[in-house]
Amino acid sequence: MNYTETGWKLQNSYASLPKTLYAPMEANPVSSPKLVIANEPLAKTLGLDTGQLDSPEFLQVFAGNRFPENSFPLAQAYAGHQFGQFTMLGDGRAILIGEQQTPAGQLFDIQLKGAGITPFSRSGDGRASLGPMLREYIISESMHALGIPTSRSLAVVLTGEKIQRYSAEPGAILTRVASSHIRVGTFQFAAKYRSTEDLKALADYTIHRHFPDITGPDRYIELFRQAAGRQAALIAKWQLAGFVHGVMNTDNMAISGETIDYGPCAFLDRYDESAVFSSIDAGGRYAYRNQPLIGGWNLARFAESLFPLLDDRPEKEALSSLQDALEEYVKLQHQLYMAGMREKLGLFTEMPDDQQLIEGLLELMQENQADYTNTFRSLTFEEVDEPQLLNSEAFMDWHKRWKSRQRQEGRPAQEILELMKSRNPAVIPRNHRVEAALEASLQGDYGVMEKLLATLQNPYAHSKEQQPYTAAPPPSTPPYQTYCGT
Ligand code: AMP
Ligand code: MG
Ligand code: MG
Repeated sequence: MNYTETGWKLQNSYASLPKTLYAPMEANPVSSPKLVIANEPLAKTLGLDTGQLDSPEFLQVFAGNRFPENSFPLAQAYAGHQFGQFTMLGDGRAILIGEQQTPAGQLFDIQLKGAGITPFSRSGDGRASLGPMLREYIISESMHALGIPTSRSLAVVLTGEKIQRYSAEPGAILTRVASSHIRVGTFQFAAKYRSTEDLKALADYTIHRHFPDITGPDRYIELFRQAAGRQAALIAKWQLAGFVHGVMNTDNMAISGETIDYGPCAFLDRYDESAVFSSIDAGGRYAYRNQPLIGGWNLARFAESLFPLLDDRPEKEALSSLQDALEEYVKLQHQLYMAGMREKLGLFTEMPDDQQLIEGLLELMQENQADYTNTFRSLTFEEVDEPQLLNSEAFMDWHKRWKSRQRQEGRPAQEILELMKSRNPAVIPRNHRVEAALEASLQGDYGVMEKLLATLQNPYAHSKEQQPYTAAPPPSTPPYQTYCGT
């Protein structure tokens, strides 16, 4: 099979899974689609013809009006625990059009989010509005630039139709690219509602697609172990970047280890370990500090959904292997987080009191409502401009301890600086900046968003041009709130 003229080379391996795991879809055409933004570098990686991204051919694909050659559009079935409650879900407003084979030989899901009603839409309209789709575009692309595994954003188009939310809003479709959209909830769905053969087909497919080295009789336990390892790495990176996912339901956890489902997520401005941004998370289940724990909770649900595949093993043995793997997750997550924190502080090696040192800084930041990103950035350049921190005697004490710990490394200052620069971003998608970009976009001015996106491309550049984007929101700014699934 060859690339089409515009560069599509779609497979539809998910469609070859048992038909009980998805619903085939047809086009839900929209009246007058218009391109808002397209991602050239990503298109290039995918093998698409970047010179044609603004052509009518691509527009029709991004709008879900026409599918490329070899597409098999489908909506995936899944279930999930939403805030702890088990529910049947599925792609209610997204369709997978196929998996693009890149020139480098990788396979990526191409999914249209906001493409209309599916059999899993329940009472929803299957659509999405412009603001949240651009928000996902900005934040997911920034996550990628920060080095955090994530689904990516290829394009956003306006549908030309209004959709009803709090008010009438412009409808939009996001073309999302991911290693896959197989979720913990996909396994929960198969385990609860489908046959063991279907579950096995899903597990074998997942191994083949994401963990091709896994073979042998223990492969499902190994699948769990390796998927848990990827979550440990992912959540450590979230914590280190100050990212709050906001809705870590089991249907929003990808087995691939990528961040998926950008709903009510946000980055910390001032450091607050109990930070919650989502308007619906009143209990703080998905607060910043809980993310590692919730990761473990979700993985336990994943382990349960694998039980039917372990039937031929003595039950106790299988259970204890899964339990060991879960404990490994907890340890690994913590280790990776600590290792990352050390690097943010310019420390190359591990020493016994490091945890105390790190927690000491975080406590000071919490007490003084210091900006998370800028505190690390200032430490990097020895320009502590978090005034509250600098003025406190406690901080001066901490700073002395840190400097003496750094000297123990016996490394040249330049090496330390380089390490810190590469681990402490200058720019993150600040909530007030993202909001400003969305507001302008809704008025038809995409320039603000484009500038922001360009800046977020090189978060570790620490360049002069980035300066204006590094500022924390003014102290008078009210607490930031995000809303789910609009
Ligand atoms: P989320 O909170 O984004 O994980 O979404 C939870 C579920 O609601 C998923 O099954 C979505 O497909 C579905 N959903 C969200 N918005 C809509 C919508 N506008 N129409 C239909 N289904 C939706
Ligand atoms: Mg979701
Ligand atoms: Mg969502």
